[in-house]
Amino acid sequence: MIFEFTDGSKLFYNDFRQFGYLKLVTDKELPNVPELQNYGPEPISPKFAIAQFRDILARRPNMKIKQFLMDQSLIAGIGNIYSDEILFSAKVRPTRTVSSLKGEERRELFKGIKKILQDAVDHHGSSVGDFIRPDGDWGTYGQIHRVYGRAGQKCKVCGSMIKSLKFNGRTGSFCPQCQK
Ligand SMILES: [Zn+2]
Repeated sequence: MIFEFTDGSKLFYNDFRQFGYLKLVTDKELPNVPELQNYGPEPISPKFAIAQFRDILARRPNMKIKQFLMDQSLIAGIGNIYSDEILFSAKVRPTRTVSSLKGEERRELFKGIKKILQDAVDHHGSSVGDFIRPDGDWGTYGQIHRVYGRAGQKCKVCGSMIKSLKFNGRTGSFCPQCQK
């Protein structure tokens, strides 16, 4: 599907892996689209503020923070790659429970969500696997991953070995020195 905009730019929707689909609705129907009821807030939106993040954290005190970040019903749009990178930027281990997070760690996670996702958009994504840009180029965020996909390599900050762990069937990576 190709969307053509009035400024001449185009948006290509090319869903190799068939994770997604398109549904055409009117503005009036939009707030009640059933598919959208299952998603948490859009984290990159300016409307997503730290008070809302704190409220969502308070709803899941026993959840592990990596699982929390990847739960689309709590916050939309964070998957395995960006949860690893957000946790590294906040210096928090993926296995921590939400209730164990200190106030400052919650602030750093919130800042990390905004920063990492914006950086990824600015770099046109990670291009892990088969994702490419419409012009055929790769996204370049993958080149600056600090932990994701780097298990067994040295941490770019402290030089320790990046470790990986299985997490609900997904592999997460973290620095045992930088992340507490
Ligand atoms: Zn480190």
